[in-house]
Amino acid sequence: MIRCLLGALLSLCFFAANSFAQANPCSLTDHMEYTKKIKEFTTESFFSTELVDHLPLSACVPPPDASLHHIVGAPNVLDYTKDINAYFRLLASKSPRVRVWSIGTSEEAREMLVAAVSDEANLSKLDRYKEITARLADPRGLSDAEAQKLIAEGKPIYWADGSIHSPETGAPEMLMELAYRLAVEDTPFIQKIRRDSIVLITPIVETDGHDRMVDIYMQHKKHPDLPPYPLVWWGHYVAHDNNRDNMGVSLALSRNMLKTFLDWHPTVMHDLHESVPYLYIMTGTGPYNAWLDPIVISEWQEMAYHEIEEMTKRGVIGVWTHGFYDGWAPNYLLSIANSHNSIGRFYETFGNGGADTRVRMLRPPDTNREWYRPNPPLPKVKWSARDNTNMQESAILFGMNNVASNGQKFLNNFYLKSKRSVEKARAEGPAAWVLPADDPRPAEQASLLNLLQLQGVEVQRLEKELHVTGVQSGQEAGSDKEKSTEKPDVAARPKEEKKSPEAVIPAGSYVVRMDQPYSRLADMFLDTQYYSPRDPRSYDDTGWTLGALRNVKTTRVTDLSILNAAMQKMGRIDSPGGIDGQGKTFLIQHNTDNTLATLRFRLTGVSMEAAEGSFEADGMKFKAGAFVIRNADRAQLEKAAKDLGIKVHATNTSLSVKTHPLAVPRVALVHNWQNTQNDGWFRIPMEELKVPYTYVADTWLRETANLREKFDVIILPPMGGGGPAGLSAVVRGLPMRGDPRPWKNSAETPNFAAPGLDSTADIRGGLGYQGLANLERFVREGGLLIAVQTSASLPVAGGMTEMVNVSDARSMQAPGSVVLSTIDDKKSPITYGYDEKLYVYFRQGPVITVGSNFGGPGAEEGLGGAPRSSGRGTASDPDVIQGRLYEPPEKPVKRSAHEQELYVPEDLPEFARWAIPPKDQQPRVVLRFAAEKDLLLSGLITGGNEIAEKPAVVDVPHGKGHVVLFANNPMWRGETMGSYFLVFNAMLNFDHLDAGGAAVTSP
Ligand SMILES: [Zn+2]
Repeated sequence: MIRCLLGALLSLCFFAANSFAQANPCSLTDHMEYTKKIKEFTTESFFSTELVDHLPLSACVPPPDASLHHIVGAPNVLDYTKDINAYFRLLASKSPRVRVWSIGTSEEAREMLVAAVSDEANLSKLDRYKEITARLADPRGLSDAEAQKLIAEGKPIYWADGSIHSPETGAPEMLMELAYRLAVEDTPFIQKIRRDSIVLITPIVETDGHDRMVDIYMQHKKHPDLPPYPLVWWGHYVAHDNNRDNMGVSLALSRNMLKTFLDWHPTVMHDLHESVPYLYIMTGTGPYNAWLDPIVISEWQEMAYHEIEEMTKRGVIGVWTHGFYDGWAPNYLLSIANSHNSIGRFYETFGNGGADTRVRMLRPPDTNREWYRPNPPLPKVKWSARDNTNMQESAILFGMNNVASNGQKFLNNFYLKSKRSVEKARAEGPAAWVLPADDPRPAEQASLLNLLQLQGVEVQRLEKELHVTGVQSGQEAGSDKEKSTEKPDVAARPKEEKKSPEAVIPAGSYVVRMDQPYSRLADMFLDTQYYSPRDPRSYDDTGWTLGALRNVKTTRVTDLSILNAAMQKMGRIDSPGGIDGQGKTFLIQHNTDNTLATLRFRLTGVSMEAAEGSFEADGMKFKAGAFVIRNADRAQLEKAAKDLGIKVHATNTSLSVKTHPLAVPRVALVHNWQNTQNDGWFRIPMEELKVPYTYVADTWLRETANLREKFDVIILPPMGGGGPAGLSAVVRGLPMRGDPRPWKNSAETPNFAAPGLDSTADIRGGLGYQGLANLERFVREGGLLIAVQTSASLPVAGGMTEMVNVSDARSMQAPGSVVLSTIDDKKSPITYGYDEKLYVYFRQGPVITVGSNFGGPGAEEGLGGAPRSSGRGTASDPDVIQGRLYEPPEKPVKRSAHEQELYVPEDLPEFARWAIPPKDQQPRVVLRFAAEKDLLLSGLITGGNEIAEKPAVVDVPHGKGHVVLFANNPMWRGETMGSYFLVFNAMLNFDHLDAGGAAVTSP
C-alpha cells in the first residue's frame, strides 16, 4: 500500500478497487509506460510485430507489471512459480474472460495451473464445449450428421504450455502477457480468438525445476563475480528427459498433463521451448511416427507455414521449420496430443538461459539459407528476453487466430482422426493386441495394461478360449528367417496376409481392441519399429517396443474374428496374489516380477533364501532363484503377497536344493554435481517399488573412506560421456577454483534442496583420486559396485577388473534401440528368474570385451581359418607352397563367443600364464548380446557387429567383492521394467554372486 502512495504502482491500487462483478464494460487505453519499455527492451524492429509492440491498459484487469513490478520480457529478472500462478489467479479474479484451476502438483508439491481464456459466453458454457470435444474424441455410435452438428456447435481448444525445460525461461513470462492481452484487447484479431476458440494456458510445466532455475539466475545477478551454479536438478528426478516421459508416464507433470488432456481433448497442444535461433516452428525432418494418422502430418505443415508466412510478411527475420527434430519417437510431451488424435506441436525460440540481453554470434549452419529457412538468422545480433517474448507471442497468436478462424475444419479433422482410429481394426489393422493369460509375469503384465488404461486405452478380458489365425508375437526379431522358407511372391506380401496356423488364446487373456479411439497409441507402443539408416539421423530413441522392454508377452492379431469374441471391459488390473498349500516352508517362483524386490525389502525381518538350482515340490517346478522362506508368519506373508500380487506356495516337502540367504542390502545410488538426469531414472523405480537407497554424491564418496561400513551395494548410473574425457570429468568434477560452493537452501536459494535431493557444503572436486580409491577399497572389502553404461569405464580404467576391457564403439550407430540378449551364465544369481532371452535397451555403448588378451585365435582367424594368404586357386582352395609336399591346413577350431573369451592356448608362455587370474577370479559374462542377424528388434543399429555376441552384463570379482558392468541401461525412462531385475538380483545376492561359478581355488 505504501508503494501506492509512492505512485510506483498506481495502477494496482486502482484496479484493486474494481472487479468484474461490475457490469460496466472496462475502458481500454494505451499502457504508455509498458509500451515504452517494450520498445526499449526490443533490440531490433525485425524482432517484433504489431500484435505485441504495445499493451492496452484495462480499467478493471491488472496488467502483468501491476503484479510483477516489471514488464514481461524485462532484462535481468525472472519470477517464481508462486508469483506467476498468483498473477493468473489475479487475472481470473478480475476478468470474466479468465478462469483458473489447478491440474495437480509436482513431486515437490508446487502447483500446476491451467488458465482458460475466452469470451464470457464461452466460459459460461465450458462444460458443454468439453462435452462436445469428448464426444468427438470417441465417435463410436455417433452418426456423421450428429457429428457435424456437434462440430458446428463446438469451439476448438488451443492449449499453450511453457517451460517444461527449466533453463528455457521465457515462456512462463510471455504467457502472462498473452493471457492478459487475450482477455482485454479489443482488436478484431484478438476478438476472433476469444469468440471462436477457447485458449488454455499452463504457464509452467516443470514447476520444481523452474524455481531452482530462478534461484540460480537471481543469485548470480546478485553476485555476478561468483561462478554461476549448475542447475544440478531441474525437476525432482530428471532434467531434459522430462520431455521423454510420455511412454513411461513416470513423472507428476506427465500425469497431470495427460489427465488434463483426456479431460478436455484440446484440438492443439503447443509446447514452448528455447534453443535454436530465432524461431523454429515444429514440423520436423521425418521419419514421422508411422502410427499417426496422415491428417496430422498435414496439419503440422499447414499450421507452421501459416505462422512463418505471417511473421515473414511483417519483416521478422529467422522464422523457419523442418530441419530440427525428427517426429519419430512418441515420448515427448506433445505426443500426448498427437497420439490421442489431436495436434501436438512446439516452438523453439532463441534463449539466453535467463533474461540477459547479450550479443550472440552464430555459425554458418545456423545462418545458411536453406529451402526450409529462406530468411535465415543473422551472424551477429543483440538478443533480449523481450525479443524472445515478441517472437513467441506473435507467432502463437497467429497460430491461435488460425485455429479460431478455421475452427470447424480443425474440429472436423479431429473427429475424422478419431473415427479413423476406431476403423483401424478393419482398415489397416491389426484387429487387436493380446496379452495372454498365461504370461509368467502377471504383475508386470498388469502394470503395462494399467499404463495403457492411464493413456485412455480400453482393455478387455476374454471370457472364453479363442481360436484365431493371423497372429504374430510382438517380440520376434530376425523375421527374415520365415521369408527364406516361403515362395518369393508370398514372402513379398505383408506378414498378416500369409497363412498362419491357428493359434489358441487362453480364456482370461487381455485384449486391446483396435476399434477404439486410442488404438493408434496402443499400436505404436506395442508394435516393433524399423528406423532406416537412410533416414536423417534420429533425434532421440529409435525403438521402444514396450512389451519387449517390459518382458511381457504380446501378440499381434490380424484375424478380425477376435472382435466378435465375448469380452469384458476392465477397470484397474491387479495381479492376484496369496498363499496356496499348507506347510512351514513357503516357495515363491522367481519370475522377475519387480514386486519380488518390494517383498524382500518389505519383510526385512524375515529370513529368505534363494535356490541355487531348479527343483520340484508337490509336483510344481521352481526355477533357480526361487525364494525359499522357512518358518515365516503366514498371515504376514499372505498380506504382503496379496498386496503385491505374488503367488506363494506353502509346503512341508523337504528341499534338497542348495540355497543361500537373500540379503536386504544397504544401497547407495551415486550422483554428481553437474548433471543428475540418468540417476533419476533409477530413483523413480526404486522409490515406486519401495527399494530403499541412499542418494550420495561423488564428492561424498571422495570424503568417506569407510564406505563398506555404510553400504553393501553402490550403484553408478550412467555419468559423464564415457571414454577418457568422460572418465576425466567424473574424476575432476567441478573445478576446485575459488571458494567452496555450498548447495543448500538459503535466503537467496530457497529451492535448491528438497526432501529426497542432496545438499553439501561444497559441490567442487568430483570423485577425485581419493574417491576412486575409496570405491576400490569398498569392493575389495566385500561390497558390490554396479557400473552402468558410460560409468562402466570407471572401475575398469580404475584397475578394479582383470581380463575386461571397455571401449567406445568405433563406427556403430545405435541411437537408442531394443536389442536381443541371451542369458550366458544360467547359474549366476544375476540371471535368476529369467528365461533364455531378454530384450534390453541399448544406446551406443560401451563395447565390453572379456579376456581378449589371452583368448588365442578364434574360428575366423589363424590356424587354417580364413582369410587365407595370396596364392594359388580360388579363395576356398588350398594353397600349395612350391618345393615341398602339400600339407592340408589344420581345421579351424569352432568356439562359441563364451568359450573363446576365456580360452587359454596350450602353448601360452609361462610368464603370460602366470598373469591369468584363477578361475574363480575371472569375469563371468552373465548376459550377452545376440548374434548380429538376431540383434535388432526395434529401432536402428548399423555396425551391430561391434556388440554382437559381446558381453552385455559382466560380473567381475575383486577382492572379497564384485564389480558388475552393464553395457545396456537396465533402468531407462520407466520403459525397461524387463531388465530391472538384473539390478535387483545383483543387489539381493551381492554377497553370493559367486554361487554357481567356478570353485574357489585361492585363499
Ligand atoms: Zn526445451
